[in-house]
Amino acid sequence: MDVDPILLVGAGLLGLCFGSFLNVCILRLAHEDKKQRSLFHPPSTCPRCGRRIEWRDNIPIVSWLLLRGRCRACGQPISKQYPIIEAVVAILWIAAMLAYGPTVRFLAAAALGTILLGIAITDARHYLIPDEYNWAGLIIGLGLSLAGGVTGFVHAVLGACTGFLLLYLVGLVGGWVFREEAMGGGDIKMMAMVGAFVGWKGVLLTVFAGALFGSLVYVPLLLLRKRKRHVPFGVFLAMGATVVFVFGDAIIDWYVRFLRAG
Ligand SMILES: [Zn+2]
Repeated sequence: MDVDPILLVGAGLLGLCFGSFLNVCILRLAHEDKKQRSLFHPPSTCPRCGRRIEWRDNIPIVSWLLLRGRCRACGQPISKQYPIIEAVVAILWIAAMLAYGPTVRFLAAAALGTILLGIAITDARHYLIPDEYNWAGLIIGLGLSLAGGVTGFVHAVLGACTGFLLLYLVGLVGGWVFREEAMGGGDIKMMAMVGAFVGWKGVLLTVFAGALFGSLVYVPLLLLRKRKRHVPFGVFLAMGATVVFVFGDAIIDWYVRFLRAG
């Protein structure tokens, strides 16, 4: 699609801002103490010296480069994670604008991609999927679906219900078979959120793709180490959801034609 360069710059700048916000989410939402989970209070401080970070030192990527990755007050290093996530989210928003132009689909791609990145990082590190990502995504997904009229909204609601029920059932069956919790509540709510973006067919495909990616990565690991490990399934579901958001319609079309030809 031919997109005005100004729109690409705008998408990149918005991506930087949301990347910066995602850094705060990643840092705070995994906190065990719910009281510490507020995204807006207290303002950002240096994790080493506790000094409040001024606005001029909080400009995505630029400040980190100008300060050469060190805190202005104490000179201790600041994690590379901050500028890297800001850059990744900016690239994601630019790619979405390139692919879909200034449309509702661009907003959906950018929002879903940003949320999935936050979920994947948090699940990989802490084996948990904070509710805040799921609820925010569900509301954004359902809200954007309204642009498609009643049909779009029904499609999104059906997708959310399918995602929720499917993972709930997988968890139930897994619980009987393995006699332990196979599916965390976070995965169930995450798939409801993804369903609001990709519809009921897309959410079925997402779970299938997630299980496939998970097996490809984890089965060799399990065989090598020969021991049971906790699987951050959210990481693989996020990968599956990304593939399905971009290529889902093409995959489903191909599959339907394949079934008819057979
Ligand atoms: Zn400091």
